[in-house]
Amino acid sequence: MDTKPDDQLLQDAATRAADYLRNIRDRRIAPTAEAVLRLGDLNHPFPQRGLDATAIIGLLDDIGSPATVATAGGRYFGLVIGGALPVTVAANWLATAWDQNACFRATSPIAATLEDVALGWLTGLFGLPQDTGGAFVTGASMANVAALAAARHAILSRHGWDVEAQGLYGAPELRIVVSDEVHVTVLKALSLLGLGRDRVIRVPTDAQGRMRADSLPYLDDRTILCLQAGNVNTGAFDPAAEICAVARKAGAWVHVDGAFGLWALASPAHAGLAAGFADADSWATDGHKWLNVPYDSGIVLVRKAGHLRAAMAATAVYHAQDTTDAREPAHYTPESSRRARGVEIWAALLNLGRDGLAELIGRTCRHAQRFAQGLREAGYEILNDVALNQVLVSFGTPEETRAVIGQIQADGVCWCGGTVWQGRTAMRISVSNWSTTDADVQLSIAAMLRAADQVVRTSRPGT
Ligand SMILES: *Cc1c(COP(=O)(O)O)cnc(C)c1O
Repeated sequence: MDTKPDDQLLQDAATRAADYLRNIRDRRIAPTAEAVLRLGDLNHPFPQRGLDATAIIGLLDDIGSPATVATAGGRYFGLVIGGALPVTVAANWLATAWDQNACFRATSPIAATLEDVALGWLTGLFGLPQDTGGAFVTGASMANVAALAAARHAILSRHGWDVEAQGLYGAPELRIVVSDEVHVTVLKALSLLGLGRDRVIRVPTDAQGRMRADSLPYLDDRTILCLQAGNVNTGAFDPAAEICAVARKAGAWVHVDGAFGLWALASPAHAGLAAGFADADSWATDGHKWLNVPYDSGIVLVRKAGHLRAAMAATAVYHAQDTTDAREPAHYTPESSRRARGVEIWAALLNLGRDGLAELIGRTCRHAQRFAQGLREAGYEILNDVALNQVLVSFGTPEETRAVIGQIQADGVCWCGGTVWQGRTAMRISVSNWSTTDADVQLSIAAMLRAADQVVRTSRPGT
């Protein structure tokens, strides 16, 4: 067996990756049907003898690259999907070569250090206390799980119950309050934590999907109240300042699902939208959405770090023990072995700086405004107040809107998905990619109007 590092192999992969990224703007967003069909070639029996590494990378590029969705380019506006800043792709490659286990300080001093540094920068950026605790997880879904586990611990321990040891059998009941617009991953987190996705008290929302502060239920010191910073349809923010003040007085724990919206705090021009969210007790956000680092990357933050640690720490005799005051990463995460996600977050923040990050947030929000303006001027209805990076547009009847979305997706210049917003069928435009340019927006608006024109002409002959 040859154990020498294969320089040629890594160079080959780097060349192929660079070619992929260079050409991404010239290809359709969704793969062609032929490219998807060719994936069948990968479905052969497990071979008796292994294939050479160079051939494997060739196969991956030849069959795999054409079957990707071009989310790394600037004209994918589905879901809330960011790209990856070049520095984060490069940092990810180097860190992959390191193959560090970010579990403990001892298994990777560099991973632990970059997490410490990035956590400090993030808490400062979001205006949280310097000693806020946190961890790097797979995404906002797992960040919601970790934060709500910390909340569950904090409340139950205050009531004399050790939930980590005893589970929820016989535990004091918790009240979980969410809005009608709660993200499904918060409900999933509640179900994983034994709190039940249907045993929640729902607060009605307004026309933009904001929790109505005048409709809050009774809150007490057994309540976990889940707020949202950035609605996936409208981009709207719950009125956090008002609600946090009420919750604090009642002794309730406030958790914020801020997968993308929390990043508004990084832009002075948009921070006002997220005013008051820093008053909460825990926050879940994503690196792989608006910060534009590679998948998978989420961040959990907890005001009183000890609650997260109490919910997550598990030690075995062969594990590294706490010997210093330094944060031991594994004691704050659901996972043990883990990749060094802090590397890319650190690299992105260092590369952008405060100004660059504010500019990235501002630029993508400006693009969203341009979309809204272009579509409105063409006579189509924008269904939301476009204050952030999300746009909802109707092209007419539900059938027409669905047909336009289908036509846009088939055309391939850009990609948008559909939604139903307060009973109205709409197309969602989410601008989250660092590399989207003014030209991309122009091209995409033109493609949308072309598709709409075609559909409306077919469905309303004679108009
Ligand atoms: C994307 C998103 C999530 C889930 O995040 P993942 O990174 O997919 O786990 C949760 N809440 C909101 C508001 C989101 O936009």
